Amino acid sequence: MSGKRILVVEDNLDNRRILVYRLKRIGEFEILEASNGQEALEIVKQDPPPDLVFMDLKMPVMDGWEATRQIRKLDGGASIPIIALTAQAMAGDEQKALAAGCDDYLAKPIVDLGVVRSKMERLLER
Ligand SMILES: [Mg+2]
Repeated sequence: MSGKRILVVEDNLDNRRILVYRLKRIGEFEILEASNGQEALEIVKQDPPPDLVFMDLKMPVMDGWEATRQIRKLDGGASIPIIALTAQAMAGDEQKALAAGCDDYLAKPIVDLGVVRSKMERLLER
C-alpha cells in the first residue's frame, strides 16, 4: 500500500491528527488533509485523485454524506474507495453512509490499527 495517496477529511483537528499519525504507523502514504466536504471535493478533483478517502460525516460547510454523493458524480469518482468515520453513539450513521455511497465505515475513536489496515487493503487491492 506504500506510496498511495490517502485523503483524510475530518473537521476536528485532534481527530484528524490522530488518524494521520495512525496511518503513518501503517505505511508510507502521501497523506492529504481536508477539514470539510467542500475542501475534500476540491482535492478529489485534482489529478491524480486520492487512492482512498477517510470521510468524517458531521462537518461544517459540506458534510460527509453530501461530499460522498458529490464525489460519486465526478468523472472517475465512482471508483475511489471512501471509508466513513462514524461516531460510535450514532446508530444509523453507518447505513446512511453506505446509502450515500461510502464503501465501508470505521467507528471513532479508531484504536485497532489492524482493522484499519485490513479495510484499506481490501479496498485498495480490489
Ligand atoms: Mg465532525
